[in-house]
Amino acid sequence: MQMYSEADVDISCLQDKQVTILGYGSQGRAHALNLKDSGFNVVVGLRKGGASWSKAVADGLTVKEPAEAVRGATIIAFLTPDMVQKALYESIDSEIDNGATLLFAHGFAVHFKQVAPRSDLNVVLIAPKGPGSLVRRQYEEGHGVPCLVAIHQDADGEALNLALAYSAGIGGARAGVIETTFAEETETDLFGEQAVLCGGATELIVAGFETLVEAGYQPEVAYYEVMHELKLIVDLLHEGGLRKMHKFISDTAAWGDMVSGPRVVDAGSRAAMKAVLTEIQDGTFAKNWIAENEHGMPEFKAKMNADLEHPIETVGKDLRSRMDWLQS
Ligand code: NAD
Ligand code: MG
Repeated sequence: MQMYSEADVDISCLQDKQVTILGYGSQGRAHALNLKDSGFNVVVGLRKGGASWSKAVADGLTVKEPAEAVRGATIIAFLTPDMVQKALYESIDSEIDNGATLLFAHGFAVHFKQVAPRSDLNVVLIAPKGPGSLVRRQYEEGHGVPCLVAIHQDADGEALNLALAYSAGIGGARAGVIETTFAEETETDLFGEQAVLCGGATELIVAGFETLVEAGYQPEVAYYEVMHELKLIVDLLHEGGLRKMHKFISDTAAWGDMVSGPRVVDAGSRAAMKAVLTEIQDGTFAKNWIAENEHGMPEFKAKMNADLEHPIETVGKDLRSRMDWLQS
């Protein structure tokens, strides 16, 4: 494994150069503000009249429409939703300087060939392993969110230096920057969010909730048990892995974990995980998701509504309103 830290980075390659941030959502706002506070010359590219425009102006940033914002830029960061990057790149390609560097925070558009950049451009990845709010907060507190770096196209031999300078500017180099490839970042990121972090975890929670409620237990008690308390366990895992969790839970909980966990996540679940990974690797997931977007996302909206209308949401909303220290 190759890991870079702040001492390995020479930020002079970006000094007095323009860095353009396209998009001002979760990642865009954090990157733009951190880079500005690190002393870089930041321009934000947004559609005129969009909600993000006034927010970026209020934050003290220079904001232009994308085609204008990319002119003269040394680095152009694509921090819009993955599904709009193809059309966005095509609409600004003619305005991008020769030899500029395109930077992505997730490899989807490049890896699945939605964006096929000109051969004179560097194409790099700096993927923070955390949401934008944390990228900003950690930076302000003097820390950073660890990042992955990858190079897809190195037109001038400077791609890695520029990517690392950018990662230092957003604070990531303080925590360490691990070298990867666009393929590895894209495939592991999609697998993680589908099988474990978002898809796997929420399905486990809802199935546990339904099992308890169908057996006649109170929904409020079930909610505390399978949703509310999960954070306490995840915090222990995040801070100190399996060892710290086992240290803080009771022996009864640890024994139950070890004998019952593998019955729930069993060979069938592992086979399903493998199938999910295969469909990510062979492009089936990407093809279907792109088609869903092209059709106006009917299935996305229907599934999202079903999720948000589940009884666990009603119970949870009520219980959380009594815990005024929680941010909704
Ligand atoms: P987001 O949805 O929070 O924000 C998107 C921004 O893009 C908004 O400001 C929106 O106004 C703007 N936008 C939309 N269409 C546009 C267009 N045509 N032209 C210009 N601006 C446009 O997005 P996000 O979650 O920050 O994701 C950005 C990138 O970062 C994606 O590639 C994503 O995969 C990656 N990423 C996100 C996270 C995360 O935690 N959210 C973590 C790692 C990587
Ligand atoms: Mg991710």
